[in-house]
Amino acid sequence: NNRLLTPEQREDDTDTSIRPLILNEFIGQKQARANLQIFIDAAKARGDALDHVLFVGPPGLGKTTLAQIVARELGVNFRSTSGPVIAKAGDLAAQLTNLEERDVLFIDEIHRLNPAVEEILYPAMEDYQLDLIIGEGPAARSVKIDLPKFTLVGATTRAGLLTTPLRDRFGIPIRLEFYTIEELLLIVKRGARVLGVNMSEEGAEEIARRSRGTPRIAGRLLRRVRDFSIVEGAREVSRSLADGALRLLDVDPIGLDLMDRKYLDTIAMSFGGGPVGIETIAAALSEPRDAIEEIIEPYLIQLGFVQRTPRGRILTPHAYRHLGLKEPPPSAT
Ligand code: ADP
Repeated sequence: NNRLLTPEQREDDTDTSIRPLILNEFIGQKQARANLQIFIDAAKARGDALDHVLFVGPPGLGKTTLAQIVARELGVNFRSTSGPVIAKAGDLAAQLTNLEERDVLFIDEIHRLNPAVEEILYPAMEDYQLDLIIGEGPAARSVKIDLPKFTLVGATTRAGLLTTPLRDRFGIPIRLEFYTIEELLLIVKRGARVLGVNMSEEGAEEIARRSRGTPRIAGRLLRRVRDFSIVEGAREVSRSLADGALRLLDVDPIGLDLMDRKYLDTIAMSFGGGPVGIETIAAALSEPRDAIEEIIEPYLIQLGFVQRTPRGRILTPHAYRHLGLKEPPPSAT
């Protein structure tokens, strides 16, 4: 994924240094943090494993980071894998039998587990037991293996993609929300401190406003602006330095890039502002439908530029204003 503004992980996202390590350093997601704190404190007081946790929310909002923090706060090991990586039931069985009492096993993209693997997970989550079938045909027999009491932390971008039996086995479901600009401002300023960048308040604001509610993007834009300021030999990242650098990268003042503008332009110009179906938009943009629904639209919907309706996508007056286009008259249909 080559888009600078993609919320998904890119190869150049080497931001482990600015990752918050404890719950108190984690900015934003107040509700999620408050809930986690209570459940963590209770589990520790009982000397018991934390109930299984499911994080739901768009990419880059801190699901993996929170999972690591949960393990750290519990004082247990953090093991990590992801749905598409676990190919066979045996792969998951190996992960599970390697856990120690109360460890955290993090499964990213848990909606992408294959059904045979998911079957193994049910008894593991519920009774801390592994039910394995050994051998094949008439010689096959089932064996039960006791597992340590562990905590499964799952992450998914869309809860709707999870099967109901899997979703029901998470005692602590937590939904993450897009961050406010104020929260992103704090994240950018903290990141700048950690990276040793002399950041002005206004410079940080320019980055925060373009971060699409997403800390991963904030960190990425921060590093781009830092590189720019190093090349320029700037003493401080001013508003104009940040703004200039990000415009050069085709990121507009509210964090839209060429892809977003193409999406909005297409609906405005080719489909009279909608309603237009997602398949039609996907064909017009030559982009997979999933990418449009998961990467482009959430932020545009959050901004109030686009509405999803049963009849298709509709551009709002906000979008027309931002594009500098005149709204079409209301259609007669
Ligand atoms: P997800 O798993 O939801 O895709 P991550 O946990 O990998 O997201 O977070 C993406 C990046 O954003 C991480 O590198 C992390 O440093 C940063 N990040 C996420 N949430 C926060 C936060 N609340 N404060 C500071 N940085 C954050």
